[in-house]
Amino acid sequence: MSLRVLVVEDDREIRSMMQSSLTVEGFEVQTAVTLSEASALLRHAPPDVVVLDLGLPDGDGVALVQQIRLNQSLPIIVVSARHQEAQKIQLLDAGADDYLVKPFSVGELLARIRVALRHRGTALAAAVTTHSLDDLHVDLATRTVQRGGETLHLTPTEFNLLARLVRSAGRVVTHRQLLTDVWGPEFTEHTHYLRLYMGQLRAKIEREPAEPRHLLTETGVGYRLAVA
Ligand code: CA
Repeated sequence: MSLRVLVVEDDREIRSMMQSSLTVEGFEVQTAVTLSEASALLRHAPPDVVVLDLGLPDGDGVALVQQIRLNQSLPIIVVSARHQEAQKIQLLDAGADDYLVKPFSVGELLARIRVALRHRGTALAAAVTTHSLDDLHVDLATRTVQRGGETLHLTPTEFNLLARLVRSAGRVVTHRQLLTDVWGPEFTEHTHYLRLYMGQLRAKIEREPAEPRHLLTETGVGYRLAVA
């Protein structure tokens, strides 16, 4: 049975581009132009994944994310214009899984959809406990990090930060989410902690810390652990 994608997008060109390319990839595609149309489809024919544009004729995408998160755990990928940065963070914190900035390629969209579906799948089956890319290997169960077979020594905070990114590997994690999960909810404004620890982590993990291969910066939003 093919997976069902709901594309919520009022731009006709982008909508039909997504519809045709996702159909070619074997998805069953439903489309909605407005929030109310999307809500109706979500109630009557729930999809496996939602691709959501932010600026819609009858309101803001945030409302739909909040509504979905009240009772559904399906992945939500937000598609936004570059000037909507602040809103993008709000959406991720509200429970969206990932975002793409326009213009984006179909390949990028498919990669994000696959990562989001995989995370939802593994979240239901079993928690992610290992991560490997190139010569980096992280094992959350044994709390070990190896590069080229050599064990790296991380401080507990460095490890916890890396572990949080491993659990969301391939997806962006906002500054607020990282600070809350690693330091605690009272530390959400302490973004300098993140910069400091991310610098230390890169110095230990990356071959070239100034040009990170693993710990990627999502400017103004957060960080993403590379999966490919
Ligand atoms: Ca729009």
